[in-house]
Amino acid sequence: MSKFNGKVALVTGGSSGIGFAIAKRFAAEGAHVFITGRRQLELEKAAAEIGSNVSAVQSDVTDLGDLDKLFAHIKSEKGVLDIVVANAGIVESFTIDKATPEHFDKIFGINARGPFFTVQKALPLMTRGGSIVLLSSIMGTKGFPGIGAYSATKAAMRSFARTWANELKDRGIRVNSLSPGATQTPALDSQADTAEGADEIKAMFSQMTPLGRVGRADEIAAAALFLASDESSFSTGIDLVSDGGLVAV
Ligand code: NAP
Repeated sequence: MSKFNGKVALVTGGSSGIGFAIAKRFAAEGAHVFITGRRQLELEKAAAEIGSNVSAVQSDVTDLGDLDKLFAHIKSEKGVLDIVVANAGIVESFTIDKATPEHFDKIFGINARGPFFTVQKALPLMTRGGSIVLLSSIMGTKGFPGIGAYSATKAAMRSFARTWANELKDRGIRVNSLSPGATQTPALDSQADTAEGADEIKAMFSQMTPLGRVGRADEIAAAALFLASDESSFSTGIDLVSDGGLVAV
């Protein structure tokens, strides 16, 4: 039985990696899914691969005008929104002694301010029984060197989920965060300059992870499906960790 028949979902950053896997899974479950990203070509390729039940809208989460246009578009096409997955995000590495104000503002602009105003501007369209999923990361609770600004934005997702769970409960909207461990996506590969370097990073994470490997984007999509659907109807304000046991074990 399809879990999302008749539902309308938004997945920001739905053109690649985890967001793409989530959008593909939600569409397969019967939702109509709006995917966003900055690169039009990537969006078109993703929409073509998903096939049906998908609309691609070029939209930058740091641009409030873009967000207004996005929600006007969703309103005119579907009228309502049941599910928001605030997934768009980037990773950029600098230790504290090397980090610049531009780095800090870029990371916080996309990864923290982006989801904040995405959710704020989505609310007028959101239905009672709706669900918001914020992409956090296990890095939000760890102290890996070199990604201090990134990790802080992911801790912010955990915090937003707590506050918004309370603020939105009377509107019947649940809010949860999802913390993947290292997951095979273009963003993970981009952490090294070479394919060999990327393999080394994955080997390092695999060695640290009880299940002995990095995650697949479709495994994170399955966790997002749980949080976005009524299967998690008694969960709000939680953080669901999907990391092969790295944090808990
Ligand atoms: P990815 O493959 O690089 O995909 C990122 C997506 O976000 C792309 O669609 C990208 O499209 C979009 N995006 C980036 N900046 C944007 C902006 N300003 N406005 C709108 N869209 C934007 O990355 P991923 O690994 O799937 O990561 C997705 C999320 O999962 C992120 O929030 C990340 O922090 C989180 N996460 C990832 C991992 C992992 O190991 N992969 C682990 C934990 C958490 P454009 O570039 O075209 O805009």
